Amino acid sequence: MRAFDYIRAGSCKEALAEAETPGTAFIAGGTNLLDLMKHEVMTPARLVDISRLDLGGITLTEAGLRIGAMVSNSELAADPLVRRHWPLLSRALLAGASGQLRNKATTGGNLLQRTRCYYFYDTAMPCNKRAPGSGCAAIGGFNRIHAILGASDQCIATHPSDMAVALRALSAEVELLAPGGGRRQVPLAEFYRLPGDRPHVETVLEPREMVAAVLLPPPEGERQIYRKVRDRASYAFALVSVAACLRMEGGRIAAAALAFGGLAPMPWRSAEVEGALIGEAPSAALFDHAADLLLEGAQGQGDNDFKIPLARRTLAAVLAEATAEDCLEGDRA
Ligand SMILES: Cc1cc2nc3c(=O)[nH]c(=O)nc-3n(C[C@H](O)[C@H](O)[C@H](O)COP(=O)(O)OP(=O)(O)OC[C@H]3O[C@@H](n4cnc5c(N)ncnc54)[C@H](O)[C@@H]3O)c2cc1C
Ligand code: SF4
Repeated sequence: MRAFDYIRAGSCKEALAEAETPGTAFIAGGTNLLDLMKHEVMTPARLVDISRLDLGGITLTEAGLRIGAMVSNSELAADPLVRRHWPLLSRALLAGASGQLRNKATTGGNLLQRTRCYYFYDTAMPCNKRAPGSGCAAIGGFNRIHAILGASDQCIATHPSDMAVALRALSAEVELLAPGGGRRQVPLAEFYRLPGDRPHVETVLEPREMVAAVLLPPPEGERQIYRKVRDRASYAFALVSVAACLRMEGGRIAAAALAFGGLAPMPWRSAEVEGALIGEAPSAALFDHAADLLLEGAQGQGDNDFKIPLARRTLAAVLAEATAEDCLEGDRA
């Protein structure tokens, strides 16, 4: 690990001003950044600690729920409002990491955690995300956990966050603060970038911007489900995950929002899949059609070919559960 300067910021204004110096990174819970620094994957010269800033709080407003960037994953998962109205988010958080990690991990840090591609963490290997232009060791290497959708010939890494998959299905927005007091809101759908030929640029966040909060629109009475398929029952990242918000009316699907994890470089959502479901009565044929649309452009890399049938089966199981007539509200998250 390399030496670095440490600054504990007392206010957002101070933190943003400190971040103007090149080579500075914010540190929140540190559960990802410190690992990356130990491996020398990230080598910031200065850390600005934002953990004491006034960025906490889970507040209900007319526009929905406002979640401060420093709210811990544990606090968010346990919040009574979240458990009651956004149970999908609570379940997704509890499916991630471990209790100890969730106590430290924050909302902002979870959104910005880096991929778990093994080659990204191994500085002896080529990696376009870590060292632009060096190549991609996962293409043609061992790529069991890698992407089947949205990847490029420069990078096939997946996005690791469970929380972000739930937030994508819930149509969340991210509030960003810039030096000089600028504030903007970005839909999560536009926050992450696909790798293309610049896999090292993962979000639309400017280098000196800070995540201040996540905003959730009010729920509309949907059934909410989060299903995560992984190698172990706990403490493992998703191979495939599905976050679903579905509303049934008169035996037909009236509203559908579905997001997928473990498949792509960002939490994945497909308007085609949702459009094909809305207005239809649930059936195995319909679920199959939805999976066809989701996986139309899917491309395995060898070791991860199994994700294509796994995603199909997981989607069908989630849709069957969400549309079952005996589905009891509150039991389905
Ligand atoms: C063993 C292990 C297992 C895990 N399993 C899972 C899992 O199954 N599912 C899952 O989703 N996650 C999992 N995680 C990841 C964990 O959830 C993340 O490490 C955590 O959410 C990151 O939050 P943090 O506050 O610690 O971020 P930090 O490590 O402090 O920061 C991460 C990044 O975000 C930036 N950052 C942080 N806050 C802000 C902000 N407000 N504005 C701008 N930039 C910011 C930092 O500069 C850094 O680049 C696991 C982690 C470990 C170590
Ligand atoms: S998949 Fe992406 S993160 Fe992994 S080695 Fe290739 S370029 Fe690096």
